[in-house]
Amino acid sequence: MKNQTYDIIIVGGAVIGSSIAYFTASNPTFQGKIAVIEKDPTYAQSSTSLSAGGIRQQFSNPENILISKFGVQFLKNINNYLKVDNDPVNIDFEENGYLFLASKKGIPVLEKNHATQTSLEADVEILNADQLKEKFNWLNVDDLAAGSFGYPNSGWLDAHCLTLAFKNKAKSLGVTYIEDSVIDFNSDHHQVKQVVLESGAVLNGGKIINAAGAQAAKVSKMAGINDLPVHSRKRFIFLFKCNDQLPGCPLVVDPTGAYFRPEGQNFICGISPPEDNDPDCEDYYMDYSVFEDELWPILAERVPVFETIKRTSSWAGHYAYNVKDQNAIIGAHPEKTNFYFANGFSGHGLQQSPAVGRAVSELINFGSYQTIDLNNFRFERFAENKLVKEVNIV
Ligand SMILES: Cc1cc2nc3c(=O)[nH]c(=O)nc-3n(C[C@H](O)[C@H](O)[C@H](O)COP(=O)(O)OP(=O)(O)OC[C@H]3O[C@@H](n4cnc5c(N)ncnc54)[C@H](O)[C@@H]3O)c2cc1C
Repeated sequence: MKNQTYDIIIVGGAVIGSSIAYFTASNPTFQGKIAVIEKDPTYAQSSTSLSAGGIRQQFSNPENILISKFGVQFLKNINNYLKVDNDPVNIDFEENGYLFLASKKGIPVLEKNHATQTSLEADVEILNADQLKEKFNWLNVDDLAAGSFGYPNSGWLDAHCLTLAFKNKAKSLGVTYIEDSVIDFNSDHHQVKQVVLESGAVLNGGKIINAAGAQAAKVSKMAGINDLPVHSRKRFIFLFKCNDQLPGCPLVVDPTGAYFRPEGQNFICGISPPEDNDPDCEDYYMDYSVFEDELWPILAERVPVFETIKRTSSWAGHYAYNVKDQNAIIGAHPEKTNFYFANGFSGHGLQQSPAVGRAVSELINFGSYQTIDLNNFRFERFAENKLVKEVNIV
C-alpha cells in the first residue's frame, strides 16, 4: 500500500494540537494536507481534560501576558471562529476573575509583576487587605498584605469542550484525525521524513509538530532529540461541597500556592508540591492525604466556612513541566528543521492554546511570527542559557 503523505503531521490532538490544526487550516494561504494523530480520542488522560480550566493575565513574563490577552478575546468571541454549520460552540466561560493573594513577604513580587502586567494593559488591580475584605467578605485577610485581582477577562472554562470545538472546526476545514499512536520516526540528520504508527501505517510528512503534552519528551526522542526538558509531573484536583456560597468567588491562589474556585454548586482545589518533592510520574494514583493534610487546613484558614467542607470527588492529571524555566517551548528544532515543538506548558497551556495555535501556524505558513513574537520561547534558549523564567506558576 502506498504511504499517505501529509504536509503537516501533528502528534497529539488535544487542545494544543487541535488549535494548531485549526489555525493552520483556516489560513487562506495554506493549501496543504494536515493529519492529526491522536491515540485517545476520548482525551480521558490528556492534561487538557484533567485541567482546572483557568485563564488569567497575571504572569511575570510579557509573552505570557500577551498570549492570555489574545486567548481570552478568542474565547469570548469563539463563535466567530469555531462555529460549524450554525451550531453554536459553548465552552462555559465563567468570567469570575482570578485572585493572587500575598502576605507581606510576597508584595515585592506581586508589585513587580503588576507593573509588567499593567504596562501591557492587562486587566488587573492590586487590592489591599481592607479592599479584599470589602469585596470578598468570606475571605480571612488577617495575614494578607494585598491581592492581585484579575478582572474582567479572567476566569475558567470547559477545557474538553474547547478541544472538541477546535477539533470539529479543524475537521470541517479538511484536517484528517487519525486514531493511532506515533511510535517512531524515520529521520535523516536534518529532517524527520516519516511517521511510524502503532497500526503499522507509515506516513510521509513535510512538517512534524510535537503536541504530545506530558509525553512530549518521548516523542522528541523518537526524532533523536534527547534533551527536551519536559517532564511528566502529577497534579491532583479535589472537588468539594460547601454548604455556603461565596458570592463573587474568583479562582483564588493562596500565598501557600493552594488554589480553589467554584465548580457549579461545588468547588475544586489543588496545590503543587514543593520542587524538591515533585518526581517524574506517569501514573494516575490518588494521594488523598494531599487534601486531608495539606489543602484542607489551608482552605479552612483562608475561608472559615471551608472548615466543614466535604470532599466529593477527585482526579489526577499531569503537567508537561519544563524543568528549566517553566515556560512553553515553541518552534522548530535547530537541526531537525522540520520538527516543531509546542510543548512544556507547565500548567498554563490550556489558556495558551489559542495564541500558541496561531503562533505555530504562523511559523508553518510564513516562517516567522506575524503577531506575538515568541522567539524567546525557542528550543535553543537552553543551549544559549537564555532562560525565560515564569514565576507565576500555580
Ligand atoms: C491538574 C491540572 C490543572 C491544570 N490547570 C490549568 C489551568 O487552570 N489553566 C491552564 O491554562 N492550564 C492548566 N493545566 C495545563 C493544561 O491542561 C495543559 O497545559 C494543556 O492542556 C496542554 O495541552 P496539550 O494538548 O499540549 O497536552 P494534552 O492535553 O496532554 O494532549 C496531548 C495529547 O497527545 C496525545 N499523545 C501523546 N503521545 C502520543 C503519541 N505518541 N501518539 C499519538 N498521540 C499522542 C495524548 O493522548 C494527548 O491527548 C492544568 C493541567 C493539569 C494536569
